[in-house]
Amino acid sequence: MAAPERTWVPIEPGFFTIPSDRKETPRLLGSRCAACGEVFFPRRPICARCLGRETVDVPLGPRGTLYTWTYTHFPLFGSRRADAGGYGVGQVDLPEGPRVQAVLSGGPGAFRIGMEMELELEVLRENSKGEEVVIFRFRPVVEPGGAK
Ligand SMILES: [Zn+2]
Repeated sequence: MAAPERTWVPIEPGFFTIPSDRKETPRLLGSRCAACGEVFFPRRPICARCLGRETVDVPLGPRGTLYTWTYTHFPLFGSRRADAGGYGVGQVDLPEGPRVQAVLSGGPGAFRIGMEMELELEVLRENSKGEEVVIFRFRPVVEPGGAK
């Protein structure tokens, strides 16, 4: 029998969803301007394009296109996987418009500009209540049948 799942809490509320079924894909939480339609991540109460004061919360992604990336040969700050040696950081263009900077999942050979990425969550560490603190990150989408 598998160990019971610990509760997941976001490192900061309001930026992404945590599905109750962990097989489901999380979503980023953005805002769409009711006046001009511009979409933002993270959410904002006033539109940065037209200064409209009515914005609507919208789920974003979960897939996007890798615009650029780099690899940091230093442990991820605050992560319990401090032995991993490094981590990727990239900018992902979402179909709704925003370009999102995020941690990437995979080694330095895993990324190509223009590849499709999908949002997922990573457990960063445990908090004092025994809950697992999660961040969002993007992983390369590997379609069945191999790389494109
Ligand atoms: Zn606007």
